[in-house]
Amino acid sequence: MSGLNTLIRLPAADSTNAWAKANLDRFGPVGAVYTTNQTAGRGRLGRAWANAAGQALYYTAVLRLPLADPGALPLYASLAVAAALRRQYGADCQIKWPNDLLLHGKKIVGILCESCRSPEPGGPRAILCGIGVNLAQPAEYFAQNGLPHATSLALEGAAVHPEADADALAAALTDFAFDRDIYAFEREGFAACRGAYKAACVNLGRHVLYDGGAGTAVDVDEAGRLVVQEDGGGARRVFTGEVSVRGIYGAV
Ligand code: ATP
Repeated sequence: MSGLNTLIRLPAADSTNAWAKANLDRFGPVGAVYTTNQTAGRGRLGRAWANAAGQALYYTAVLRLPLADPGALPLYASLAVAAALRRQYGADCQIKWPNDLLLHGKKIVGILCESCRSPEPGGPRAILCGIGVNLAQPAEYFAQNGLPHATSLALEGAAVHPEADADALAAALTDFAFDRDIYAFEREGFAACRGAYKAACVNLGRHVLYDGGAGTAVDVDEAGRLVVQEDGGGARRVFTGEVSVRGIYGAV
């Protein structure tokens, strides 16, 4: 691994996104912080991300780059993490719009992107991409945490050594997913990866439920929004990232 970028491993953190936010000046254009013990992780829409000390990767990429289309970063990131898991484990993940990774129909990765600015006047701005990867939790862990639709790489048959794998995955994400491989997305935005995203998106052609309705997901548009043909023949509806789409778990 080239190790060109700042990559910080912490023994534990409340949230790697929060730690990055408080330490923005430690990073250059691309950097990252990670741990295998995140005690207060957050998901989208204010939800919690369950901790599994020593059994999972909790990682935040810190991007201080001008992105053409920052709103589509969660979609790019899901594709890039899927590529990293394919390289490292041969895992064939699908994407649940906008940015969850599923393996064999169960959730294995969650992603939370945020933009931020350091508190001092004129301080650095950054986009944070927080990624939780379930590496080695056993079935009882998901049962005890009320996560029947979640799984880990080990549970799905991968050979996992969580501490060493967390290091390797964090390095690969930092030097490839968020550095070399992001070049086209950085300049062209979602158009650079829309075809690959649609090919990996498990929702397309399937029925989805969302707050206020249901329909068939028919496209992911050029801005990364999910396009739904509503039941009852209603007009197409396009979702932004503030909506949770259901109806996929257990269906694939
Ligand atoms: P979903 O549609 O699965 O609720 P989301 O994109 O709306 O996903 P996220 O931000 O990815 O939500 O993550 C929060 C949700 O993920 C929680 O509400 C919980 O259901 C689930 N979750 C929490 N911890 C884990 C974990 N370690 N592995 C898999 N799923 C988890």
